[in-house]
Amino acid sequence: MRRLSIFDGKIFDGHNDTLLRLTVNPREGDNFFDSVHGHIDLARARQGGMAGGFFAIFLPNPPDEGGASSPHPQFPAPLDLHYAQSLTFKMMATLFQLERESQGQLRVARSVADIIAAREAGAMSAVLHLEGAEAIDEDLCALEVFYQAGLRSLGPVWSRPTIFAEGVPFLHRHTPDTGAGLTEAGKRLVQACNARRIMIDLSHMNEAGFWDVAKWSTAPLVATHSNAWALSPSTRNLTDKQLDAIRDSDGMVGLNFAVLFLREDGASDEDTAIDVMVDHIDYLVSRVGIERVGFGSDFDGAPVPRAIGDVSGLPRLVDALRARGYGADELQKLCFDNWMRVLKLTWGE
Ligand code: ZN
Repeated sequence: MRRLSIFDGKIFDGHNDTLLRLTVNPREGDNFFDSVHGHIDLARARQGGMAGGFFAIFLPNPPDEGGASSPHPQFPAPLDLHYAQSLTFKMMATLFQLERESQGQLRVARSVADIIAAREAGAMSAVLHLEGAEAIDEDLCALEVFYQAGLRSLGPVWSRPTIFAEGVPFLHRHTPDTGAGLTEAGKRLVQACNARRIMIDLSHMNEAGFWDVAKWSTAPLVATHSNAWALSPSTRNLTDKQLDAIRDSDGMVGLNFAVLFLREDGASDEDTAIDVMVDHIDYLVSRVGIERVGFGSDFDGAPVPRAIGDVSGLPRLVDALRARGYGADELQKLCFDNWMRVLKLTWGE
């Protein structure tokens, strides 16, 4: 018998850069609890129904090397390990300090049970994610320590190269086939993540790296914040062949709200219709199945459609999906259940 469910309005999100916003050059008066800046704070998350998500640690370039988050076809040099580790500690500390100050309203989740318990308590859960493994040494000592601190998800690269792999430069009308795959250290990193059941995020990997992870990893293939290359031909998006591999591994794709990766023309134009987001969801669902698509907003990391604005605008995306014909059962999967499904497969119960 078909299980009937009613969409409960709660959303789990595959990617945000809120720790970057709050830690590196925070604006006057900005905070995590009730802010007018950025995309996510607890007050607006409640309005939007965000029950939790992956909180990324993304490392900008050292100040004297220019802005790292601006789309740039040339890779900056790999980061110095000491610089990467000290900034990672700082951003991890931000998360743990917020958890303490929130008095139970924000909880660092280390399991699916933690995420569900936080949701039932009306709290927000945060999964600690490294966007690029720059803070991890070749002997993987830092991986061990970060795992014990709560790390449950990791991308071997952001778009700059690491000792583990090469990421994609930000190029439009270009395939993600931009360079070499995993190094020997990268293969060991994948195996070490599998052994600890740390999720491996493919979102910033080039094609060679993607296929190497597909070959070496025993876990479902997950891209936390990427879209369909067929609709927006960016190096950051997934080709049909990659989507087929994600489907075949029973993995997952999180819809990236960044207008750069939604639009066919790749323009940084916030006047992008919510329908374009729904077009990507339709395409991803048709390619990988309704069980394997969710959201990966990139809030606080990139310009998003003005019609969404910030986390409080999530219900407008849900309304647009409903208008396109998605029923309560399907919305429940897209908004929350699919992430729990793939996390259970990856982390265990
Ligand atoms: Zn990213």
